[in-house]
Amino acid sequence: MKATARILNGIEIAAQIKAEVAEQARALAARGITPGLAVVLVGHVAASEIYVRSKVKTCAELGMFSEMLTPPESVTTAELLELVAGLNARDEVDGILIQLPLPAHVDTRRLLEAVSPDKDVDGFHPINVGRLQSSASHGVQAGSALAPCTPAGIMEILRRSGLPVAGQHAVVLGRSEIVGKPVAMMLLNASATVTVCHSKTVEIGRYTRDADILVAAIGRPGFVTAEMVKPGATLIDVGINRVTDAAEVARFFPGDEARAAQFATRGSTLVGDIHPAAFALAGAYTPVPGGVGALTIAMLMKNTVAAAKARRGASAGRSEVAAAKA
Ligand code: NAP
Repeated sequence: MKATARILNGIEIAAQIKAEVAEQARALAARGITPGLAVVLVGHVAASEIYVRSKVKTCAELGMFSEMLTPPESVTTAELLELVAGLNARDEVDGILIQLPLPAHVDTRRLLEAVSPDKDVDGFHPINVGRLQSSASHGVQAGSALAPCTPAGIMEILRRSGLPVAGQHAVVLGRSEIVGKPVAMMLLNASATVTVCHSKTVEIGRYTRDADILVAAIGRPGFVTAEMVKPGATLIDVGINRVTDAAEVARFFPGDEARAAQFATRGSTLVGDIHPAAFALAGAYTPVPGGVGALTIAMLMKNTVAAAKARRGASAGRSEVAAAKA
């Protein structure tokens, strides 16, 4: 009888992480510290507004303070730099998140580099990128670096699901700054042997077929087919692709009535970078939706509490000691 692939439920893992973060936020609150996140949302990008709302809502649920700053589309780089400098200087702000993408006229790189590395909860500042790279630690979240949320979420899925990483061949598809490169570095830090593939890689299948862990982050619906997968492999599907063509939906999900019904109601459905037919061969896999995507906000909250602890936790401890002595 064919073994059934294990589903790695991102929603459940995210709930565990959020419960832990809420507990840590309570412990900090008992010492007079409320972890705080400032989100900068420029203009009106519908998808960004949805993400930001759910970040703000999650902060409230976990006992954290959040603030949304909404400069208009016409804001200049200089004005944004000033705004970030103000947030850097405010003690009650532990995390600063600049929602991407920014309008084309804004110098995104300059702005991301202006965020204080201690408050860089997205993990995009070169100091944090460097800390992740130079970490001697082989842990999930290396050293004291604030690690990018989606890759850190992938490592949490692997760790909390008890899946081995050390000694495994991990193949990463995609080399973006926000997913591919950092997850490759984290897997290396966790002692996997890592191969990174991208759009110039010749015959990707010869690498993917040898992957014990395959992380697909390229933004191409159903790119990884069953023939490209080693039976029993762990498949981590980062891709979030909205499919609006009925024939394509039928091709990806033949006989799946739930998907067909969803498509009929919404006019679209989400497909990852791994073809759903390949999941049947896997030892374990993350579904889309409900896999990696579910972890991203939980990891942002985790980073915000970690930033609060790192920057304010120790001094609060000292002032408590001083108060107790007085
Ligand atoms: P990105 O910046 O567009 O990078 C895509 C990467 O994939 C690039 O490195 C590109 O190679 C590579 N690539 C593109 N087409 C390829 C092909 N045919 N064969 C091999 N490699 C190919 O994308 P991203 O921001 O990393 O996102 C990737 C996917 O993950 C998207 O679907 C996105 O929506 C999703 N995502 C999900 C989350 C989450 O929370 N779950 C978070 C972020 C992103 P080159 O470098 O050679 O161009």
